[in-house]
Amino acid sequence: MAVLEPVPVSQLRGVGPRMAQRLADYGIHQVEDLLFHLPLRYQDRTRITPLAALQDGVEAAFEGEVRLADISFGRRRSLVVRVQDGSGMLTLRFFHFSAAQKQALKPGVRIRGFGQARRGANGAEMAHPEYRVLDGPTPIDVEETLTPIYPTTEGIGQAQWRKLCTQALAWLERTAPPDLLAGAGLKGPGLVEALRYLHAPPPDASLARLLDSQHPAQLRLALEELVAHQLSLLRLRASQQSDPAPTLQPRPKLWQQLQAHLPFQPTTAQERVIGEIGRDLASAVPMLRLVQGDVGSGKTLVAAAAALQAIGNGFQVALMAPTEILAEQHRRNFAAWLEPLGIELAWLTGRSRGRQRQATLETIAAGRAGMVIGTHALFQEDVRFQRLGLVMVDEQHKFGVHQRLSLTDKGAAGLRPHQLVLTATPIPRTLSMVAYADLDCSVIDELPPGRQPVTTVLIDSQRRDQVVERVAAACASGRQAYWVCTLIEESDALQAQAAEATAEALREALPDLAIGLVHGRMKPADKEAVMAAFKSGELTLLVATTVIEVGVDVPNASLMVIENPERLGLAQLHQLRGRVGRGSEASHCVLLYQSPLSRNGRQRLQALRDSNDGFYIAERDLELRGPGEVLGTRQTGLMAFRVASLPEHEHLLDRVQEIAERLQSGDPAIVDAMIRRWTGERTQFARV
Ligand code: ADP
Ligand code: MG
Repeated sequence: MAVLEPVPVSQLRGVGPRMAQRLADYGIHQVEDLLFHLPLRYQDRTRITPLAALQDGVEAAFEGEVRLADISFGRRRSLVVRVQDGSGMLTLRFFHFSAAQKQALKPGVRIRGFGQARRGANGAEMAHPEYRVLDGPTPIDVEETLTPIYPTTEGIGQAQWRKLCTQALAWLERTAPPDLLAGAGLKGPGLVEALRYLHAPPPDASLARLLDSQHPAQLRLALEELVAHQLSLLRLRASQQSDPAPTLQPRPKLWQQLQAHLPFQPTTAQERVIGEIGRDLASAVPMLRLVQGDVGSGKTLVAAAAALQAIGNGFQVALMAPTEILAEQHRRNFAAWLEPLGIELAWLTGRSRGRQRQATLETIAAGRAGMVIGTHALFQEDVRFQRLGLVMVDEQHKFGVHQRLSLTDKGAAGLRPHQLVLTATPIPRTLSMVAYADLDCSVIDELPPGRQPVTTVLIDSQRRDQVVERVAAACASGRQAYWVCTLIEESDALQAQAAEATAEALREALPDLAIGLVHGRMKPADKEAVMAAFKSGELTLLVATTVIEVGVDVPNASLMVIENPERLGLAQLHQLRGRVGRGSEASHCVLLYQSPLSRNGRQRLQALRDSNDGFYIAERDLELRGPGEVLGTRQTGLMAFRVASLPEHEHLLDRVQEIAERLQSGDPAIVDAMIRRWTGERTQFARV
């Protein structure tokens, strides 16, 4: 099938160099790009709604005669205009208005307008509707289609989008771009029909169905978009596997030596996943594997087993963590496990400076350090490895895809390192199919034996005093507790302040307790000292910000209080809660919420209360908050679909995979065209 010659948007009427530039900045270069710039929603200007039939909250076109236009001096000065038609009355309210405007709205004048009606005590009202005065008898000139509202950017108005898209539709009718999914045996509208429908739905189109994203035209395009997205990930995978990786033979002796030091046996699930990874590593095709395992399932040991296989073959391993606290904890675990086997560790974070940093870089470059652990500082350009064979990323959703890939460029000459991604955010199958199609997936679906499920309760923050007493009682009986402060603001400074204030108040209320404080603004050495004191039991209560969200492991801590849990995502709360329930003690988590809770907020917290299963919780989070929140912000760029949405289009995913795999093995020009059509410039990374 031929792919169409591109037609630049500059060939359209009304697109001069400035407009062309604005469109280009927005990622729109060709006429075809305009067609795939789809409306966010629609307005119905195809009919005039009688004033008596205006519905609360619904946008509608109206027409009527002005009966009165007066300035009202209520709470705010406003121009109030009463309009009447045969059926009823409508009050228009303008808070910004000119004298000329008031002049023009003389009683007796007919106007036509459009706006969102509110039904109040005095009948229907509209604030700041669009309107125009009808002079003389006008023929009815309502719109012939629903009016699309496009996503937009500065400097391009809706009217301009409509003009551009109308021309693009005319081009569509003339040229009929190839239906790249023709032959996929799809029922329902074809590509041209679907595009026409969505840019200009007929007056009888169901707005409700369009809003639900379930119109056949939307389904047709969503399917294609998801296929395109899948293709771009498959291509990413192919590009990652275009160079060979080192073949790393299993090293059972080393692994046995490590196990000899362990106070426990690996679980069956850990063994299985270690086996899956081991087979990947022994192959010259670079491994691209995601390990999902609920909080506390023991991913670190799995990572250590993988590391041993690489190091045992004379290659270096990089392990990257999203926070210093987590990196530090990995450092401690790996030091305890690997150093007895004679393996040297290097440690690099954003705070590594000066001569010490230089020395570390040298051990890495010389290949002396077999195991290199750090934060995103490992991405820095001057970090060079001698023989990097395996890259491991913990808590992947905190990093972007780009970052992960930039490390794989640090491989030994001509060899691509294997990649292992560890995530504790259980990702619903639907999402992982879409977001991680470039990765194979292993699941650690078993917790180490003897873990106690965490009992979670919801308590209104008005009963905070009772919670403080409960903490006091728990600590008095030898347990340790976390008190987690959350804030909506991303600002470290504000978070730190809130945590400091809380710690202060708790110290006052509980003078007998040894209370520590840890937050993101502290010096790493201080942070480490506090964490160590908590771990050793010297501190019994730890006040913390969400810096302890990932990875922190203190088995004796069995109570956690989370303030304002309604502000966090479920996955994040589940992560936090995973800090308790690590020992043999029965553990508790108190969600100290601020009332009143919204309905959705209550449902979310209840999901957490009712389940300890990260997968169940993630599914609920996806339903209640959408994919962006579940995957974390860094991944949301990937999920910025035009028509497709999840979970609404989940039912398409099986088809998507099947079609994508078939296309992938077919004509590369079609794959190119699909990816370009739907993802445009957003997938530059696909061409690493
Ligand atoms: P996560 O999957 O959340 O990263 P970790 O790797 O931090 O979990 O492991 C959580 C805790 O469980 C650690 O203290 C670890 O030593 C311990 N652990 C790991 N595997 C096992 C096992 N098979 N049996 C008992 N404890 C284990
Ligand atoms: Mg972990």
